Amino acid sequence: MRLSQMLFMTLREEPAEAEIPSHKLLLRAGYIRRIGSGIYAYLPLMWRVLKKVSQIVREEMDATGAQECLLPQLQPASLWQESGRWDTYTKAEGIMFSLIDRQNREMGLGPTHEEVITAVAREMIRSYRQLPLNLYQIQTKFRDEIRPRFGLMRGREFIMKDAYSFHTDEESLKQTYQDMDQAYRNILRRCGLAFRPVEADSGAIGGSGSQEFMVLAEAGEDEILYTEDGQYAANVEKAISLPLEVEVSPFTDYKKVATPGTETIALLSQHLKCSPTVIVKNVLYEAVYDNGMSVLVLISIRGDQDVNEVKLQNELVKLAAQYNAKTILALSVPDANAQTKWASQPLPLGYLAPDLGDSYISPHKNVAPQFLRLVDQTVVELKNFVTGANEVGYHVVGANWGEQFTLPRLIVDIRTAKQGDRASHAPSQILKSARGIEVGHIFQLGSKYSQAMGATYTSEQGEEIPLFMGCYGIGVSRLAQAAVEQSYDKDGIIWPVAIAPYQVIVIIPNTSAHNQVQAAEQLYQHLNQAGIETILDDRSERAGVKFKDADLIGIPYRIVTGRSLEQGKVEIVERKTKKSTEVLLEKVVDTLK
Ligand code: ATP
Ligand code: MG
Ligand code: MG
Ligand code: MG
Repeated sequence: MRLSQMLFMTLREEPAEAEIPSHKLLLRAGYIRRIGSGIYAYLPLMWRVLKKVSQIVREEMDATGAQECLLPQLQPASLWQESGRWDTYTKAEGIMFSLIDRQNREMGLGPTHEEVITAVAREMIRSYRQLPLNLYQIQTKFRDEIRPRFGLMRGREFIMKDAYSFHTDEESLKQTYQDMDQAYRNILRRCGLAFRPVEADSGAIGGSGSQEFMVLAEAGEDEILYTEDGQYAANVEKAISLPLEVEVSPFTDYKKVATPGTETIALLSQHLKCSPTVIVKNVLYEAVYDNGMSVLVLISIRGDQDVNEVKLQNELVKLAAQYNAKTILALSVPDANAQTKWASQPLPLGYLAPDLGDSYISPHKNVAPQFLRLVDQTVVELKNFVTGANEVGYHVVGANWGEQFTLPRLIVDIRTAKQGDRASHAPSQILKSARGIEVGHIFQLGSKYSQAMGATYTSEQGEEIPLFMGCYGIGVSRLAQAAVEQSYDKDGIIWPVAIAPYQVIVIIPNTSAHNQVQAAEQLYQHLNQAGIETILDDRSERAGVKFKDADLIGIPYRIVTGRSLEQGKVEIVERKTKKSTEVLLEKVVDTLK
């Protein structure tokens, strides 16, 4: 490629819209252009980088036996209604773009593809003989992020590789999960990134085990807690539930912060726009530990359909902030979709679902199991008390719930793990903190989606069993920018060779010097022929401008056909070290190979 012919422009000034170095640099160096909030055009240089990253991802996925496919981005709401995610993903603060087509059908733009792939699997996977199976795609995802920022890091449209695996049992799922873990490590290593795999929370996607791949960078939005011995590393969201070794601190006190009939309830019902009879069944406790940490405990006894749960949850989160509570434990009698609804909350929430036959479900693993178990004692009392009171038309208005039962003294400390705490696996190890950019996330989903959507296979014994599933995402466009965030200097980007748009840039310092042009043209040709991707800066700009631009766009090697041509040599400068060597013209290709 000749720079003179490429759609290319660099900016001298720092773009005001960008906050972090990688975002500024990609804008300044002409890689991306902002089209709207969280929406970017990938210009020719960027697209080459993205194709390189995609290709590495593809090779590593293929090596595991995964099969590439392409799923629709336009998805019928009905599929998401089957899984129970439509409401949480599209209403209130949901991240799914939704629309209505001209036949008046509801549709969504895919933020992720569990529903679509499960629909395919339920049609096509019949027998255990077809399993295991792992399908992946590399495609644009759409998410209506509340705060799109940092350029490609948090876009509303971005490129993701997502894979979905299907299994007969958990053991097979774990095997593929391991393979994906290894594939992700290979991908990130090949892309030249320093990273750390960490234990993660499964969030709204659901499932049991999950692990994130963090690219280490100051600008990262995530905090990682880890130990020097390498035995432990977790996202701080997950580390929240880390039970401390010996230190157990009982509640020293708990106080009711809201009881029926108080101002808070009036306020809540006003906010939620629902009848006070719904709210009346919520009792809020603030449990205080002697270390100062507090837990907001909401006893919410509801079976009502008329309450807007998302609003209620948002209200609780606000209340939690008001009382400086780190954890909300809501015990409620939810409707069928409650689990997914509660699971999308940013704060740790647990809830009780006696109606669903479970003792309780904690969609957020952040709630320490010990804590829940102890709360169970309360719940038993509570259940006895509630029976009857929760029947239609029998809402106890104005009852003072607080006097009907007492909270047990909880003896497990579920305070947030933080830097400096002792590690639970080795108390001699102290947790350290680092910032990271989540570039990949792998999940063991289990049968959450297959069960909800009726995707089963026939076992060897002839039984119909829900498929076991895993899902594995890697943000291709975020990864590309993360590479810049990890590798730049005051002059510009320093691309790792494997994902650089070109490996070499040949600069003609003076385009009116015939010998310079001739040598450069020849090198340009030979290098490309040798499979070394080379760009030629043949623009009629000053040499200084060209050098500056070459540094800014971060091509790993720069060749200058300048003064040393008299000795039959050219200058090769390594972008990373700025180390310059003079090499005979005919040796250039071999040197760079
Ligand atoms: P985050 O915590 O940063 O919001 P996520 O946990 O919502 O990310 P996943 O659902 O795990 O993301 O998606 C898999 C991968 O897709 C992420 O690890 C990340 O690399 C990428 N990704 C997610 N959201 C965005 C986004 N808005 N812009 C760019 N890449 C994204
Ligand atoms: Mg997200
Ligand atoms: Mg995340
Ligand atoms: Mg994630």
